Amino acid sequence: MTDQFDVVVIGGGPAGYVAAIRCAQLGLNTACVDQWVDKRGRPMLGGTCLNVGCIPSKALLESSERFAQARHDLSDHGVRVSGVELDLDAMLARKDKIVRELTKGIEQLFKANKVTWVQGRGQLQPGKVIAVTGTAGSQSRTLAGEHIILAPGSSPLELDHVQLTGDIVVDSTGALEFQAVPERLGIIGAGVIGLELGSVWRRLGAKTVTLLEAQDSFLSMADEQVAEQALRMFSGQGLDIKLNSRVTDCSVETQSVDIRYQNDDGDQRARFDKLIVAVGRRPNTNGLASDEATLLLDEWGFVHVDEQCRTNLPGVYAIGDAVRGPMLAHKGSEEGVMVAELIAGHAANVNYGAIPSVIYTMPEVAWVGETEQALRAGGAAYRSGVFPFAASGRARALGETGGFVKVLADERTDRILGVHMIGHQCGELISEAVIAMELGGSAEDIALTMFAHPTLSESFHEAALAVHERPLHIAVRRKR
Ligand code: FAD
Ligand code: NAD
Repeated sequence: MTDQFDVVVIGGGPAGYVAAIRCAQLGLNTACVDQWVDKRGRPMLGGTCLNVGCIPSKALLESSERFAQARHDLSDHGVRVSGVELDLDAMLARKDKIVRELTKGIEQLFKANKVTWVQGRGQLQPGKVIAVTGTAGSQSRTLAGEHIILAPGSSPLELDHVQLTGDIVVDSTGALEFQAVPERLGIIGAGVIGLELGSVWRRLGAKTVTLLEAQDSFLSMADEQVAEQALRMFSGQGLDIKLNSRVTDCSVETQSVDIRYQNDDGDQRARFDKLIVAVGRRPNTNGLASDEATLLLDEWGFVHVDEQCRTNLPGVYAIGDAVRGPMLAHKGSEEGVMVAELIAGHAANVNYGAIPSVIYTMPEVAWVGETEQALRAGGAAYRSGVFPFAASGRARALGETGGFVKVLADERTDRILGVHMIGHQCGELISEAVIAMELGGSAEDIALTMFAHPTLSESFHEAALAVHERPLHIAVRRKR
């Protein structure tokens, strides 16, 4: 027997569960099929983000930062602490509790909104039918939807010559579970995950943290000026970032792993107690649709979609990590809301030009819109205004003076084209820039806005003033 729904969503991550909730809010009878089970085999909603991604990594970033502060930085504030000890078990248990509470929260939201949660693996069949295989492996249920939303998410990429061992060589999931602080930590890939999780274990006491990055540039997706500053600051914290480094061989021994890699200086060798592979993620589209369903994928395996997330099949949409664009939870969620609105017959779109990115290191790196190098390469006429946190009273009071805010605005219209930041709490500050861009704001709009004093936000104000060479708290050399 086939159960009939208005909408069937495959995937209960931040793209799929948000789409399901919004569909239900709009009066659509909605089911969400998800296959995630935790390490004890219990079904869990929330996908990568809640279970092994955004949330547990941020819990550990926060705890490790507090530990490092107590150990090294509080004396600067005249607070003397002694005997600071790490209770890693308690730290990991706190992380697990947060994850459990949040995943349970999604379950409650499904109940409150009357979304049907179907546990198992879904496969799209012709005619907007989803075949669900239960955990026992049998084809246990068939669902049909007037509309289908595919939100299967993504999984870590693996390297052919670096086999995961589950304990010594791990992916990002394993790196959230180390039972002891590794003395020598190696990471392949100096991207977002490498930097965030490398920071966690360095703060908790890893003696060396070595990041082997294949590219010869650091954080190529960020603004060059920000990336340069980030490289300096992270290196100063003991993250040994080796660019242009390609791992050629990896052999695992009882307690460690031996790595061979090549860089500008030729063949190199390194030994680590733990090795994290963090070289990107791939879409979960293998087996997502039967051959007969004729779902179109692109050459990298992403579901092919248009600007409004429509696939090649009428009534079938795809969202989140499994489609083009940055692999970010909030991007997937907004696509979920857009698709729900479209299904309900409303006008909706996602502004792909105003997606914020945040790297939750200390300091945080955050940006929205165009980078300066992209504007330069495109021949755009723009102005730039920069304000350093060293000149901010609040940053000084916090003892967090590293970094700056940069505003890029169109030379002719003054419209904000991009905002780039590195500094304390920039992950929060960037939302101000996103709102400004979403509302089509200009540098002058920000310059004319009153900001509370003393706040870090004033640095955004000052950077906007600097676009017109009139910041108040730094001296400018005027162009004649
Ligand atoms: P997912 O969250 O991957 O969810 C997909 C769900 O679908 C999963 O439950 C999966 O099991 C299920 N599924 C897949 N195929 C099927 C099927 N055939 N049938 C049934 N179910 C299926 N992003 C941020 O924005 N901010 C962060 O701070 C951040 N931190 C991260 C930290 C780490 C360590 C990692 C790994 C990722 C992080 N991300 C972060 C990325 C973020 O987790 C993803 O962008 C986000 O989870 C994507 O959401 P999604 O719903 O598309 O997919
Ligand atoms: P990433 O794309 O950010 O970084 C991967 C890095 O590995 C790149 O710099 C790449 O050049 C490098 N690399 C690739 N192959 C390599 C090789 N063979 N040897 C050495 N280096 C190699 O990917 P990630 O860090 O794995 O994160 C995956 C996704 O998860 C990202 O798209 C990111 O958006 C998302 N994520 C977001 C956040 C956040 O928003 N704060 C946090 C974690 C993850």
